[in-house]
Parts: sequence; structure tokens; C-alpha cells
Amino acid sequence: MRDVIDIMGVPIDNVTMGQALEKLENFLSEDGVHMVFTPNSEIMMAARRDPELAQIFKQAHMLVADGAGVVLASKILGTPLPEKVSGYDLVKNSFSIAARRTIRYFLLGAKPGTAETAAKNIMRDYPGVEIAGCHHGYFKPENESAIIDAINRSHADILLVALGAPKQEKWIYKHRNELNVKVCIGVGGSLDVFAGNVSLAPDFFRNNGLEWLYRLYKEPWRFKRMLDLPKFILLAIAKRLRLVK
Ligand code: UDP
Repeated sequence: MRDVIDIMGVPIDNVTMGQALEKLENFLSEDGVHMVFTPNSEIMMAARRDPELAQIFKQAHMLVADGAGVVLASKILGTPLPEKVSGYDLVKNSFSIAARRTIRYFLLGAKPGTAETAAKNIMRDYPGVEIAGCHHGYFKPENESAIIDAINRSHADILLVALGAPKQEKWIYKHRNELNVKVCIGVGGSLDVFAGNVSLAPDFFRNNGLEWLYRLYKEPWRFKRMLDLPKFILLAIAKRLRLVK
């Protein structure tokens, strides 16, 4: 049975990073396509406004808490999640599984050239990881079936989809039955990080729940979107105090 914690209508798996990796490895041995998403506070708020996204999250096979905000909300609600399991760290740690069993990845998304650079860096830094193919994320709908064919011909086990949220979640959901992979993970801006185009927040920010502050400093145009974070926490407090349903 899946152990999930309901955070404002989104069922987040009650897992540590280690347990999330174990689940990911189990998916590789099971039949069917498994959808894995990594919502942060902004995306949790987006799901409140977008019933389609909320439904997709309900049908996912694993949802992990990407961000200190989601973990904080779980504590406020009295149902604490054990830790943050960010999409980037989940993918990076999955490469260590690939060191003992072959896992083939297909990278879909980001600007032209980025997935290829990310693939090169990943293969250099994690020997044993196989990148079965890459495609950028700025394709037209009429090119989708050729991209899906390329993914299926590559015999990838894990498809990393970096189209940003909620585009990647909707894309994976729409095409899940055409894809011949074991796992699809929505990974947001992770390919930019693997490619070295965008740097992760320094450890101090990452370890103290302040990644949002670093991101705001680096990408100030995100300010409006990031207001969802305090709104999300206020909503959790209001829920705990039973001021809203
Ligand atoms: N992206 C893409 N196709 C699109 C829109 C975005 O491939 O049509 C990529 C973009 O280049 C970036 C990633 O999706 O690499 C989104 O990164 P972001 O950090 O914005 O992720 P989010 O915070 O939305 O999850």
C-alpha cells in the first residue's frame, strides 16, 4: 500500500530520499509506465487553481516534496513529511543505482543543445549511466509523434521530461500510454543544472530551506510567481486552524 500524506489535496508520498529511490528502482521491474512528479509550493498552489493538474497528481505513482515549503506545510498541518526530496537530487541519486544495474535515460526538454550537454556531463560524472537519447523541449505538436518514436526506439528505462511545470506533467499524462518506458519524471529546470547553465543554490541556502531566496536573487522576474510560496504556507496555517476547508 502506498503511504501518502494529503497536503491540501495533493497526495505526497511519505518517503525519505532513500525510500523514494527504492520505489523508483521497483518501478523499473514492474509493468507499465510510472509517473513521478516533484511538486514544490508554487506547483501545489497551481494545482489548486487547475483541476486538470490536480487530477494528474492524483493519478501519479509517486509524488515527492520538492522544496522546504512543502515540508513546512506538512508540519504545520500536523502530518510531517520526513524530508525534502527534490527532483534534481532524486535524479542525481538515481544515477548511483545505474552504477550497479544498467539504466537507460532519455532526456527531453530545455533549449536546443542543453540536453546534449547535460548528457555529456552526466556520462562523464556518473560512469555506468547510459543516455539513450536527447531532444530539446521547444517542439511543435506535429513533431510529437516522431519524438515519441525516438524515445521508444531508444529503449530508455527512464524518461526525464524538463518542460517546466505544469507543461511537463500534462505532456507525460497525455502521452503515457504511447510511451514504452518504465518511468517518466517531470524534472523542471534540472537539465539546465546538469548542463552547467544554471547553478544550484549554495549548500547554506539548500540546507536551510532558503533555496527560494537564492532563486529570487538570481531570477528576480520570478517574484510574482514566487508569491505563491508565502500564500501556500498561510493557507496551511489557515487549514490547521480550520479557518478554511
Ligand atoms: N522548457 C522547455 N519547453 C518549453 C518551456 C520550457 O523545454 O516549452 C524548459 C526550459 O528551457 C527549462 C525548463 O523547461 O529548461 C523549465 O525550467 P524552470 O526552472 O522554469 O522549471 P519550473 O520551475 O517551471 O519547474
